[in-house]
Amino acid sequence: MHIVTSGWFFIRSETTRGRCCLFRGRSISNPIIWTRFTISAGCFKDVGRYRRASEMYTRVLEIRPDHWRAQLNRVVCLLGSGKDQEAMKSLSEAFKMTNRIEVYDALRHLKMLKRRREEGGSVNWIVEDASKFKLVDEKTGERKLLIDALRIREIQKATKLGGCNVEVIKKEKEGIEVRTSERSIRKSELEFVLRRLLHFLPPETFQCAVRAIDEKFWAVLDVTGSGNIDYKMFFAIISPICYGSPEKRKRAAFDALLCRASNDGVKVHVYLRYLRVVYLPSLGFTELIGINGGGEDVNIPFREFIDWFDDPDQGFGVMSSLVKLEAGDRARRGKYSCGVCKYRVGGLMLKEISSHFCLCASCYSECRVPFAFQKEEYKFKEYIVE
Ligand SMILES: [Zn+2]
Repeated sequence: MHIVTSGWFFIRSETTRGRCCLFRGRSISNPIIWTRFTISAGCFKDVGRYRRASEMYTRVLEIRPDHWRAQLNRVVCLLGSGKDQEAMKSLSEAFKMTNRIEVYDALRHLKMLKRRREEGGSVNWIVEDASKFKLVDEKTGERKLLIDALRIREIQKATKLGGCNVEVIKKEKEGIEVRTSERSIRKSELEFVLRRLLHFLPPETFQCAVRAIDEKFWAVLDVTGSGNIDYKMFFAIISPICYGSPEKRKRAAFDALLCRASNDGVKVHVYLRYLRVVYLPSLGFTELIGINGGGEDVNIPFREFIDWFDDPDQGFGVMSSLVKLEAGDRARRGKYSCGVCKYRVGGLMLKEISSHFCLCASCYSECRVPFAFQKEEYKFKEYIVE
């Protein structure tokens, strides 16, 4: 189903100053428009334009009825716009989709919003200028990397690849190599492989994951729509977001790119550009123009490959930030709450060292601070809440 948005619109407010989103008569099922559309819905929610945001989430749900996160966001928006009954109905729908801890967190968030409304309270946080945010040590990751990592987390969750053991990928690649000497295989064949890689998913969730993989990865790897996918490149691109230590993920990407015939090597720079186009939204499809010329062959030692891979400007330097965010999956019930959104912080937590308030990764990435602690400069230190 194609949902078309009408007209142009802009979002400008305290939290989204400078951010401009537009949609004009284009289907939101286009992967790029889809991403922008859902981000914009989140912006409307964050600035309290709940009615508009809930309309947008309704559209998202028309295309993906099992998008539990959109359902949860819709719950928050409905409650925010005073439609309590509809919100509860939407929440029970979300419960049917998943019993993930996020649903319980959302419930807690709803209660807090309701209490605040009853108290006649207003927004108790502000958005500060990013230049006021300082880091106390090098160990504390940069905010820009964190923003990228948060976006990659969304892809990881939508595609469910965070649950795929990265060590299995090599076996699958070798299995295909035995069957064919072709570099590309049909999407349908790759879907069978995915069925094995994502064996832990129920059928419906699996279909959603495949759709997300199609939109996010296959659309980039098959721009002509031929239906054929360079499976080695595909495996190498998904490896960094699969389950396993960073070292294992890099090794899996390296192994995926390796070819039996040494004169048939994939270029490292080609791989890294695909990686950045897929995961870093600031880069567009135009980055892929002329991608097949020149560059280093992948038949370099693994150590050298890692140097390329970890390069923050040309590679995937965001990996360490991503792994810190993933720690939140194992630590959802931490005792600390974010000073802005009040959600319990699990995994990455940023603590302001003089005022002693804590922020979750999301609020930190958007430079939100509690109104009561407003000052000229903030010094943050990061912690991992296990
Ligand atoms: Zn927060």
